[in-house]
Amino acid sequence: MFLTETHMHTYPTSKCSHFSPKEAVERYSKEGYSTLIITDHFSANFGVDTDLSWDEKFEVFFEGYKEARAVGDLLGVCVLPAMELTMRTTPNDYLLYGVNKEFFERVGLPDVFDMTPAEIYPHAKATGITVVQAHPYRGRCYPTPDCVDALEVVNTSPRHDNRTEEIMAVALQHGLPMTGGSDAHRPEDVARGGVITEKQILTLEDYVNALYSGALQLKGRELV
Ligand SMILES: [Zn+2]
Ligand SMILES: [Zn+2]
Repeated sequence: MFLTETHMHTYPTSKCSHFSPKEAVERYSKEGYSTLIITDHFSANFGVDTDLSWDEKFEVFFEGYKEARAVGDLLGVCVLPAMELTMRTTPNDYLLYGVNKEFFERVGLPDVFDMTPAEIYPHAKATGITVVQAHPYRGRCYPTPDCVDALEVVNTSPRHDNRTEEIMAVALQHGLPMTGGSDAHRPEDVARGGVITEKQILTLEDYVNALYSGALQLKGRELV
């Protein structure tokens, strides 16, 4: 069995994270995870303290992932890139797996932050992105099952009420695949959640295929 983290943040790309890419990968490696998907935050506030253009910010965004991948290469951990996108139109957060430049050329930067989830979704589909709504019932968040591919049913962050049963009901009602992640920001969040698979996830395509085939076992369900 193989462990994959699907939702984690590194500092400074995610300002709210308490660990560097290196520390994050080392901690997960110690916990026996074979694959990590880095989902740093991207929002209208990204890099406000710099005068970089949005094109440059998009490049800078992947630095945390690149650093993590270099450490993963040394430790034998597969590290893959993704993004947690937040717009100004909703309190919700969306995990984009397969995020790419073409998507942002279509929606425009920073225009994307003023778009709704329903406006963004067709562009994500047209550019090969799989959209997973993160923690759909956390705080003021609400599920948008019609413009996502899957729901993060289990989010093991210890600082939030996840309302797992309610999200599961939404996923079942809409026939949406379910996934899980730790949303790790701090050492104590590491390795609580994620997914378990029989085959190692080595690409984002592997993850998406496992998600759709129902091959994911959700870790940490008992914690939330
Ligand atoms: Zn955060
Ligand atoms: Zn997150």
